[in-house]
Amino acid sequence: LQRRGIRGNFVPPIRSNGSNIGHINSRISGGKGDDALDDATKKCMEILCGPDGELPEKLRNLEPRLLEHISNEIMDRDPNVRWDDIAGLEHAKKCVTEMVIWPLMRPDIFKGCRSPGRGLLLFGPPGTGKTMIGKAIAGEAKATFFYISASSLTSKWIGEGEKLVRALFGVASCRQPAVIFVDEIDSLLSQRKSEGEHESSRRLKTQFLIEMEGFDSGSEQILLIGATNRPQELDEAARRRLTKRLYIPLPSAEARAWIIRSLLEKDGLFKLSEEDTSAICKMTEGYSGSDMKNLVKDASMGPLRDALRQGKEIAKLQKEDLRTVTIQDFEYSLREVRPSVSSSELGSYEVWNKQFGSLS
Ligand code: ADP
Repeated sequence: LQRRGIRGNFVPPIRSNGSNIGHINSRISGGKGDDALDDATKKCMEILCGPDGELPEKLRNLEPRLLEHISNEIMDRDPNVRWDDIAGLEHAKKCVTEMVIWPLMRPDIFKGCRSPGRGLLLFGPPGTGKTMIGKAIAGEAKATFFYISASSLTSKWIGEGEKLVRALFGVASCRQPAVIFVDEIDSLLSQRKSEGEHESSRRLKTQFLIEMEGFDSGSEQILLIGATNRPQELDEAARRRLTKRLYIPLPSAEARAWIIRSLLEKDGLFKLSEEDTSAICKMTEGYSGSDMKNLVKDASMGPLRDALRQGKEIAKLQKEDLRTVTIQDFEYSLREVRPSVSSSELGSYEVWNKQFGSLS
């Protein structure tokens, strides 16, 4: 007797009276038994199976190797980023707290008129903290975090993206509250109908929109966050589903100072005066958060390069032999590490923000 799942797939019978981890395991290992499984696979199944050792109903007709990939590569149960790790972006933090964190924490209060949108778009130049915000949302709301780059769906999972998307939303709905972060979402939901748009990528897009529609109407505690450096590419359907759209701009001078201080302090290397710090901030106008990180990394190599130039041997070098990081190190590194975003690009984000962004 052949059983069929919701989507018509064959559902293998699952024992209802005990653990089916072994059963699932043997499906993954092609029936070779538990011994053939590596620890990662076993761990994956332990994570996905409920406390009763059963794989949730929704996941039973999904391919085990996809579940394994999601559990091992896409799911992050402890994203480990807090608001305090993110410099500046006060406006975004405030909006996000009200719009998505509280609703994830208190679904009982945020229903009816207060029911939140389930889609959030973070747009702006690369390296400004969009991924960090996604992780912090999950961390603050004690939600499971799922990270996927949309371009990997089209490049790495050719022809299989659809299945992976279905499995991803399936796992997320079993791990609520959940935050699904889709990086480079423009490559999935773009408005370009290029001649070469393959049937498969069209199907992938449709599948994705269907999945979003599914949890948007229900009472599920799933938030989808799309991130993009190219908001202009998104089509109307994508904008409609991503109801809140927040501009994540380049860091302000204060935020840049904060990044310098916090990175150097972590290593006990921060000895710059207020004056020097603000001089560096003036010189780094237009640098993104990730440019600043690269700059600090390079500048912190200055004392080491100096010591080696003076003939010290790396093997015998004592930490005490190294001088502190100075503004001169930064001046030198500024020639090496250039800003990655051009001012013309910034203009286009601002235009899009005025037209489609959530400004309040
Ligand atoms: P995006 O997703 O916007 O491309 P990320 O969130 O991945 O950028 O940021 C890349 C790295 O740059 C982070 O790991 C962090 O070290 C640094 N960074 C970027 N923005 C900030 C910020 N606002 N505060 C602190 N660090 C930042």
